[in-house]
Amino acid sequence: MHYIKKEFSPFNSTPQTAEGRSDRSNFCLQTAEGRRGRVYIIGAGPGASGLITCRGKELLQNCDAVVYDDLIPWELITSLPRDVQRHYVGKRGGRISIKQDEINRLMVELAAAGLNVVRLKGGDPLVFGRLGEELDYLRAAGVEIEVIPGVTAVAAAAASIECSLTDRRTASWLTLATGHSADSDSPPVPWRDIARMEDGNLAVYMGLAALEEITADLLSGGMPPSMPAAVISRIGSAGQCEIYGHLDDIALKVRQAGLESPAIVLIGRPFTSLRDASRLVKPLDGKRALVTRPACQNERLCRMLRDLGAEPLPLPTIYIEPADDSTGWDCFQSAVETGGWLVFTGQAGAEHFLSRLLAYGMDIRSLGKFSIAAIGSGTESALRRFGLKADLIPDKFTRQGLVEALLHSADLSGVNIVRVRGNLGDDLVERELARAGAKVIVLTVYRTEFEVWDAHIKDEIIAHPPDYITFTSSSTVEGLVKITGIEDARRLAKESKVAVIGPITAATAREFGLPVALISSHHTEEGLVETLVKDCEAGKIG
Ligand code: SAH
Repeated sequence: MHYIKKEFSPFNSTPQTAEGRSDRSNFCLQTAEGRRGRVYIIGAGPGASGLITCRGKELLQNCDAVVYDDLIPWELITSLPRDVQRHYVGKRGGRISIKQDEINRLMVELAAAGLNVVRLKGGDPLVFGRLGEELDYLRAAGVEIEVIPGVTAVAAAAASIECSLTDRRTASWLTLATGHSADSDSPPVPWRDIARMEDGNLAVYMGLAALEEITADLLSGGMPPSMPAAVISRIGSAGQCEIYGHLDDIALKVRQAGLESPAIVLIGRPFTSLRDASRLVKPLDGKRALVTRPACQNERLCRMLRDLGAEPLPLPTIYIEPADDSTGWDCFQSAVETGGWLVFTGQAGAEHFLSRLLAYGMDIRSLGKFSIAAIGSGTESALRRFGLKADLIPDKFTRQGLVEALLHSADLSGVNIVRVRGNLGDDLVERELARAGAKVIVLTVYRTEFEVWDAHIKDEIIAHPPDYITFTSSSTVEGLVKITGIEDARRLAKESKVAVIGPITAATAREFGLPVALISSHHTEEGLVETLVKDCEAGKIG
């Protein structure tokens, strides 16, 4: 038995090695019969993507296949490297749910094919997660297993309303119960007996549908009608909703409010609405914002949105792959001795250029005779990650602004200008600089391709349009149109507010007939987020 190193495709959100390959590595057991995969059963946490454990995230990012069901934050799936097989086994969007047997068989088949499989489950797999059934099946099939716990919905629910689940002064026990009465295979929950137990708290999962019956049973078992009760639905999402009441009126209040599942029911003395005084109010609270940037670039924008209270929906419409432009690299190599300007107009260009230098027989020292011009904060930070500082950053964050600043900076006639770029977009920069007499070397280091969304994600986003759709480039607009089709893209754009990073992206959206509600005046991610905040503030005043 020995260890083999798994190969990965380049470019994802993790740092790159100098060869342009991802720095992720994973070691798999090699047995005499060949490689067999393992199954990692991992808790994804409820609602928000940040509630998965570090170990869970690490295994997820390095697996070969993921089998996931409902209630998994999309970000965990959409941020996976492209070569990870994704198997959705949930039943959202009116789809027929896949039977437990089929899920079990799928996991065994994938592992037998030598893949390391992550079985990603909402919340904690150890709590109402059918873990027992899956473990029995996998063990019987001789599959190696590791279980990584997660944050269960009850913990997140109590955290979100700032109530302790136990309290050494008042509550010495906590009961977790299922309210799923339709699950006739399971033994019934002894509600009347629980009602008689004092000095503890009760949490009910899947309790929305049968809340009337459950509260009636608890009342008839002797629990006081005035016992506080809270129901928290869609924890971690922008649509999180909390209803407070007492044992005798909570079911009615929940029905009147039309609360949607998933929801947790908490019954016990602490579960009163205490937190209003300490509650953090954030400017984008309750807003859902679609982030269409490529997965390798969307983390920052998602983080900014989340920090301001919004629920980011990271659904990349494009992805970026390295391009092989050997002619461009040859020309660049022949300019190394003389130097000139290196021109970067985007983060992807900077990252792909710098991480592929070694592959073309050069390294960072080959750039010694070049000055660097760059636009965009993402571009700047990408350069910094490689230890480089831009010499010229125009005030205007547009390609026209960059050209003007370069022309201003010096006489460019006969000077080498290495225009680092992707395959899309026009040739404005190279055209204008060549007109000024520069020797322009075009180096295409990446290609933009259009993403494919899993069908259930597409259905869900169309059925529940977000508050905002953010576009940071023309290609992200084009990507959405390709993915959803023009009619659905137009419908989505009407029901949401389209927010774009600048006038070029706005023009592309309008060409496709997508109404543009907001254009950022600063053509940066910060500017875009600021535009959303201003729009929300205006909405509150108006
Ligand atoms: N293993 C999961 C529970 C799965 S059972 C865990 O540990 O959380 C599904 C139930 O969990 C739902 O009916 C609901 O009661 C609860 N739940 C899961 N995600 C939730 C969320 N985001 N908000 C509220 N309740 C949630």
